[in-house]
Amino acid sequence: MKTNIATKIKEYKARGIKLTHQRLAILEYLDGNTSHPSAENIYKAVKRKFPMMSFATVYKTLETLRQKGDIIELTIDPLRRRYDPDIKPHHHLICIKCKKIADIEADLPIVIPDEAKKEGFEVTGNQVEFYGICSNCKSKENHNH
Ligand code: ZN
Ligand code: MN
Repeated sequence: MKTNIATKIKEYKARGIKLTHQRLAILEYLDGNTSHPSAENIYKAVKRKFPMMSFATVYKTLETLRQKGDIIELTIDPLRRRYDPDIKPHHHLICIKCKKIADIEADLPIVIPDEAKKEGFEVTGNQVEFYGICSNCKSKENHNH
């Protein structure tokens, strides 16, 4: 979902948070972005507009945005963290070949494990990750056979 950047800027100002050019550029890039980009992806994209921006700045900004709850950090890919501007609870499809991550918006029933019940743990949400091979990688595979 594409949020209104202008609204976001107002929101930030109301909360007394300064929006630097860097922060704004990163927010703009992430707004409505469903590709779950890594810090490297974001750096490459933002650098086109701000050639002076360093990777460290991008990384630090992502960390700030994450702490403020504006983006989610996905630790699905063990090689590199990926970022998701969609902070609503949702699930993911992960291609084990090309590492593409797609969203699933559907509500999935929460299966509460017996261990949670035994622990007296109250489940309030879940996030499910489905691993597999995406249609793109599958068709490539089929061509090679
Ligand atoms: Zn794939
Ligand atoms: Mn997502």
